[in-house]
Amino acid sequence: MAQDKVTAEFGSLVFTDADMRQRLPKPTYRELNRVIKEGKSIDLDIANEVAHAMKEWALEKGATHFTHWFQPLNGITSEKHDSFITPLGDGTVLMAFSGKELVQGEPDASSFPNGGLRATFEARGYTVWDPITPPFIKDEVLCIPTAFISYTGEALDKKTPLLRSEVALERQAKRVLALFGREPKRVTTTVGPEQEYFLIKESDFEARADLRLTGRTLFGAAPSKGQELEEHYFGAIRPSVNAFMKELDDELWKLAIPAKTKHNEVAPCQHELAPIFEQGSLAVDENLLTMEKLKLLATNYGLACLEHERPFEYVNGSGKHDNWSMAADGRNLLEPGPHPEDNLQFLVFLACLVAAVDEHADLLRASVASAGNDHRLGANEAPPAIVSVFLGDALSPVVEALIKKEHAEAQEGERMDLGVPALPAILRDNTDRNRTSPFAFTGNKFEFRMCGSQQNLSDPNVVLNTAVAEQCERFCDYVADRSDEEFSVVALRFVRHTFRDHQRVIFDGNGYSDAWEDEAARRGLLNLKTTPDALPALIDPANVALFERYHVLNETELHARYVAKAEQYAKLLNIEANVMVHMARHEYLPAIIAYSGDIATAVATKAELGIEALAEKTLVKALTEGTNAIYTLTAELDAKNSQAREIDDIAARDDFYRDEVLPGMDALRTAVDEMETICAKSYWPVPSYNDMLFYV
Ligand code: ADP
Ligand code: MG
Repeated sequence: MAQDKVTAEFGSLVFTDADMRQRLPKPTYRELNRVIKEGKSIDLDIANEVAHAMKEWALEKGATHFTHWFQPLNGITSEKHDSFITPLGDGTVLMAFSGKELVQGEPDASSFPNGGLRATFEARGYTVWDPITPPFIKDEVLCIPTAFISYTGEALDKKTPLLRSEVALERQAKRVLALFGREPKRVTTTVGPEQEYFLIKESDFEARADLRLTGRTLFGAAPSKGQELEEHYFGAIRPSVNAFMKELDDELWKLAIPAKTKHNEVAPCQHELAPIFEQGSLAVDENLLTMEKLKLLATNYGLACLEHERPFEYVNGSGKHDNWSMAADGRNLLEPGPHPEDNLQFLVFLACLVAAVDEHADLLRASVASAGNDHRLGANEAPPAIVSVFLGDALSPVVEALIKKEHAEAQEGERMDLGVPALPAILRDNTDRNRTSPFAFTGNKFEFRMCGSQQNLSDPNVVLNTAVAEQCERFCDYVADRSDEEFSVVALRFVRHTFRDHQRVIFDGNGYSDAWEDEAARRGLLNLKTTPDALPALIDPANVALFERYHVLNETELHARYVAKAEQYAKLLNIEANVMVHMARHEYLPAIIAYSGDIATAVATKAELGIEALAEKTLVKALTEGTNAIYTLTAELDAKNSQAREIDDIAARDDFYRDEVLPGMDALRTAVDEMETICAKSYWPVPSYNDMLFYV
């Protein structure tokens, strides 16, 4: 889009604040603003007026339907479209949309994953308007962002706890700020999700059942070259990809999604998109929309977008970096300023963050656990499954000095500078870009890098927000009832003690090294390598107490999430095993048998001519051995998978999938991939890694 077109069309498909101001009577607009900005509940008269204005706007933009858009527990987004049509009884219709329809909906919810919640309670759930994310139009449908809850109030979705955790954090962060003499109207989280993805030819995607059904390649011999030449990262973008990215930007901008950076990533065919950060729950919604657009728009260019964490072996997988901070009326609370050592308010929040991550490393790990992400965490290019915090060259010495009391002692008794410096941080550029840390301080925000590319960022942000809220409350308790004179001394003591008690989680070294695994074990840090290892944290009594204390999730809701995630793991692996068995029997075995059969015929023909076909004989032998191996391993995998499905206990089922089915899948893959390296291309039934990763 040309520059003026970009500014004209930015947000054109979103019912923005400006639209509301323009279309609503002043008192209604003011009241609605109170609802949105102060979290008040909306009354029906106001809702009716807002719904009417929203509908008029939507009709002008060509919308015919509306939907309550929400995030079910399987993490993607859901929508059911209702048209605005209301029959008048005389054969004509009116386009109507009431306040009630805006505020509350009742999707037929029985088929959404609920972790057993609705079996215990009501069969139905309802969606409630979340006015924080503005309504938008997608494919002629007015989408109203909502939370999804049961009749008894249990959260059936991922957004409700996210909103609750933001309320909890805001409350506690405001208490901290009040102690520093500040009374901001709002404290919000800020989130900027960097999204990685692969683009391959749609024809290759369609030719592979594994990609179509599971999002990743379950077979495939190593490509002749990988990413070792490092030519792809930031390299020139393919014309088809470039055209795709342009349309993507245009479409995202229309939805007011501030897509900012796009570039090639390290692996061949891998790319990244980063928006400008926004308020937390809005950024999460926008990331979900972005993921949907990525997939839809790719097909316009004959491309398929792969959002799986590990679509290909041998090259990097895809993550999503959750850049996170807090802002008080727009001012970043993690801005260290030029002298972080004297910026007490910054140090308090930094200490709270470090303590939150150390105490709830298990929950952070569980929040990003999935069958897909298990292939990535701990692999070469991804952060390890051990949660640690990177502070960098500029901050680590400050923290060490504080722990050793050096600098701090000199300051004791003096009043510290309690102000948030207006100067921009000099740290940003000084900070090492440590790419191996799962939780890195990058200048004025933290970057949680363990998240998987296809995951909904609600989960990790719920944990982060709640865990930080808890530490903020601890700080308030610690300094409670102190006089103004004592405050800075006591606050500094809190900072020092907190860093001292949680120093074990701070690690600035290479997170990919084996030495770190040993060192982390010595420090007593958790190393939860797989999803079945990580998920029980969700129902650990101490963690249940944390979430209940801040009214983010109760025990029932947590249990439901545990069950939903644990079931998801088993279901995904069951599908993957099924697809492997299917492909082996219907595609690979017939191909290899046909090839070896043809060569065997050639051997016999040549023998009749008195020619000894040495190479052919060796090849037939190898192909036959491979055929036998694949045949046996397929039967074994099928049997193991059947056995797994019979296990009633969900934790035991997940363990069995990890310990028995996954190794069976690996063994079958190895056998098939070996055959791929000796089978003629014309016989091979699916596109190879060379084809898929290095297309022109
Ligand atoms: P990188 O070097 O990791 O590629 P950048 O510094 O360009 O990253 O930022 C990556 C993401 O972090 C962007 O989406 C950006 O908007 C976001 N970001 C920057 N500041 C903040 C902040 N205060 N809170 C949350 N996200 C932020
Ligand atoms: Mg990043």
